Amino acid sequence: MKSDSLTMPNDQKNSRRSLEQSQAWLKRAEKLIPGCSQTFSKGPTQFMQGVAPNFIAKAKGAHVWDVDGNRYLDYILGLGPIILGHGYPAVQEAVIAQMENGLSYSLPHTLEVEVAELLAELIPCAEMVRFAKNGSDVTTAAVRVSRGFTRRDKVACCGYHGWQDWFIGSTSRNLGVPEAVRKLTVTFSYNDLAALHRVFHDHPNEIACVILEPVTFNLPSAGYLEGVKELCRKNGALLVFDEVVTGFRIDLRGAQGYFGVTPDLACFGKGIANGFPLAAITGRAEVMRLFTEVFFSTTHGGEALSLAAGLTTINEMRSKDVIGHLKKVGQKLKDETNRLAAQHGIARNVECAGLPAWTTLRFCDAEGKASPALRSLFQQEALKRGLLTHGNHMLSFSHDDAIIEFTLRAYGEIFAILAEALGNNSVEQRLESAALQPVIRQST
Ligand code: PLP
Repeated sequence: MKSDSLTMPNDQKNSRRSLEQSQAWLKRAEKLIPGCSQTFSKGPTQFMQGVAPNFIAKAKGAHVWDVDGNRYLDYILGLGPIILGHGYPAVQEAVIAQMENGLSYSLPHTLEVEVAELLAELIPCAEMVRFAKNGSDVTTAAVRVSRGFTRRDKVACCGYHGWQDWFIGSTSRNLGVPEAVRKLTVTFSYNDLAALHRVFHDHPNEIACVILEPVTFNLPSAGYLEGVKELCRKNGALLVFDEVVTGFRIDLRGAQGYFGVTPDLACFGKGIANGFPLAAITGRAEVMRLFTEVFFSTTHGGEALSLAAGLTTINEMRSKDVIGHLKKVGQKLKDETNRLAAQHGIARNVECAGLPAWTTLRFCDAEGKASPALRSLFQQEALKRGLLTHGNHMLSFSHDDAIIEFTLRAYGEIFAILAEALGNNSVEQRLESAALQPVIRQST
């Protein structure tokens, strides 16, 4: 989609930006909302305070406006679900048309069947489909149905899979998860078949399923995903792909179609409905049929506005080659970012990695260790130049060439600052607030 008059944020260097309203709203939120946000990654701990806005007022295309009226290019996109762009007209029209006929009923709506048919047509493993609202709903449903199917209790995982006990108990942020539950999840490292082999060796006939993101910012090494599938088969465990991010972003068939490895089950949750809350679990009929028995039932699972948004989003993605667009602009952003880092002599400190539609900037210190301080300095300077970012690039159909060019011009300025700060060892002194810390420190 072409960006029109909305293409560029004003040349609004920080000195001219007011954040008064943002700070006033934050004070109100602090009194009532623990963490001031419903999502850790959207809260004030994840943005450089004093430089970052705290509240968004509106969004259109690739841009958002904060409550003080400042405009930013959005590289977070609601943490991924905005795939076409904010307020994409065809999706808005479909939702408004559906709203005329209601959104929540006492019997299923035909949209449930239509969207299920579309997913079954596109996604290799999708012999049957169930819907929900959040990625966590469907990863948890996948774990429960795998336990029911295999009559085993343990789960092996690798990656981030949401807020539910079975997964979050395996991380550093496990307060409130009973020890008994934590013992049932084991973790393994990505791209390390020997590690998964050890999991099966140490827990013989106990693993119900292996759940992993098929790709994040490291590509699977040759034969890795095939090897995971084979290990699962040999050990009687189900293979679940968590495609909450990759689905409808790197390929319309999901990462499973892109890499040619079909899991038993797959979970989708972002990108599917351009920001409307829709998640799906798909998979082999033999396993999925067990959902007639396994309890997975929510009040809002069949909510019709999100299904209407999903139908339109997927059809729009198909007819307009949205995946091709994301690849094209993403590849340019990745290549040019890495070229700029090299030009400024900081290629060892800043690297753009991942598949084009979803890349990350890796920030390292002189010893090659991850550097939260450098990431923080990057975010601080990016915000001053009208880029809303955590250091990842989520792209949408509304991110066009002009937007990428603007971003790269900003990166040229920012990388010059990072190079100077690294050169004279002043990264931390240049931070205008405390350095950012990851939401989850490490997997245990
Ligand atoms: N799985 C992956 C790979 C995710 O990135 C996320 C969320 O970021 C989830 C699961 C959980 O999704 P939700 O936050 O919608 O529950």
